[in-house]
Amino acid sequence: MNIKINTGFLIITVFFIEITGLTAWTDHFYGTYYSLINVPEFKKQVTVESLESFLGKEADKLALELDKIEEAYKKENPRYRERPEDLKFNPKDTKNLRVNFLRALRLNTDIKLALFVQEIPSKENLSKKSIPYQNITIFDEDEGLKKYIFSELKEGGKTTALQVAASASDEPDYGLDIGLFEDSLDKTGNPSEMGKAYNLGKQAFGDPKFFYSSQAPLHMGFYHEPGIIYAAAGWVKDTFPDMRILQFAMLSKFAFATGHDYWGYRFMGWGMHYIGDLTQPYHSTLTPGVGTTTKMIANLIPPWKNKIRDKMSDRHTAIEHYQFHIMRKAIADNPESEFLSAYSRFEKDKEYKDFSFSYIRDVLTKESNSKSDGLDDVLDDNEEVIKFKEGKGIELTVIENEKVKKTNIYLLDLFSSFGSHTRNFAKFILVK
Ligand SMILES: [Zn+2]
Repeated sequence: MNIKINTGFLIITVFFIEITGLTAWTDHFYGTYYSLINVPEFKKQVTVESLESFLGKEADKLALELDKIEEAYKKENPRYRERPEDLKFNPKDTKNLRVNFLRALRLNTDIKLALFVQEIPSKENLSKKSIPYQNITIFDEDEGLKKYIFSELKEGGKTTALQVAASASDEPDYGLDIGLFEDSLDKTGNPSEMGKAYNLGKQAFGDPKFFYSSQAPLHMGFYHEPGIIYAAAGWVKDTFPDMRILQFAMLSKFAFATGHDYWGYRFMGWGMHYIGDLTQPYHSTLTPGVGTTTKMIANLIPPWKNKIRDKMSDRHTAIEHYQFHIMRKAIADNPESEFLSAYSRFEKDKEYKDFSFSYIRDVLTKESNSKSDGLDDVLDDNEEVIKFKEGKGIELTVIENEKVKKTNIYLLDLFSSFGSHTRNFAKFILVK
């Protein structure tokens, strides 16, 4: 009997996770930008530096740091699969520093790492010509990125810490974590070489057939599911956004300590991406709004199961696109909008403990997981928001009914949490 129930769970949880969206907040740049815009440390100018220059100058010290990072995460996660010896960063292999650095962190080695910033889509910036998005992402076709404005930076040029960190906070969605698992495919549909070399095991969830889905276990973290779910489906524990947060926080501190502020802020921005992802209840919760008993029963009745699956998928996608829609509108038409100022509620930062590794579970995901049922309620019969499931919908208009108003109140709360967690993470890195 037990086995039967467990199998049921396993199937349903696999089933649910296959359909979840994978990017979380649409364009992290906006949220991070408005979270940091009033923080004095982010107004400073930094000198742009290529990764090659940073690696060339710091390779010896960096080799030690990368080992420290590996050891630090190993201590935190008993299910962690260690970095194979041959991926250890060799500072003497000076011709291959870049690829070796990426391999030592088990990142996708095709990422472009261009020197760029994203621009806020304000009225005056909307007329700016963007550099091709293919310069900064591994994806040849990306409908969403067509709407973003990217500007190129030159090595040795100046920009602000704010632009660097905020732009970098969207970068992990440009391919950093694609194709890294044993069963992942590469762009051409063949087994991924990186996947074979990296020892990250099989992709815990998401369908490996879909190139883009392979980043899911690194951008979602299910730390607050009922014990019965973990007992039935151990793979639910195999999510690693906390590994990325730890890696990039330590790298950021290292870059600042060795005098490479540009990379300090860029690595910080990368870490902020995963912090932001985990503020999204659909990224910290396996099946928002669907209780354990419902999952069990629905699993036995396929039409019901499919209905729940589709509903979850629609809601996840819709809320992310709706958020993008209101942010774009606010930035272009109403810079004083409460949607933008919600990210700057500094008084809320102190309601949380200081950032540390345990903050990810005890504070960040605990909070977003606790909000998941509420979000699901708000989206019930909420046609004006659910219509965003089809696309990013900049062109759509929304009728402000009671449901929409409730959604907005809900989002304002999520935005202010996003802001506080982003700043608490920055504070942790910048403290001397
Ligand atoms: Zn993400």
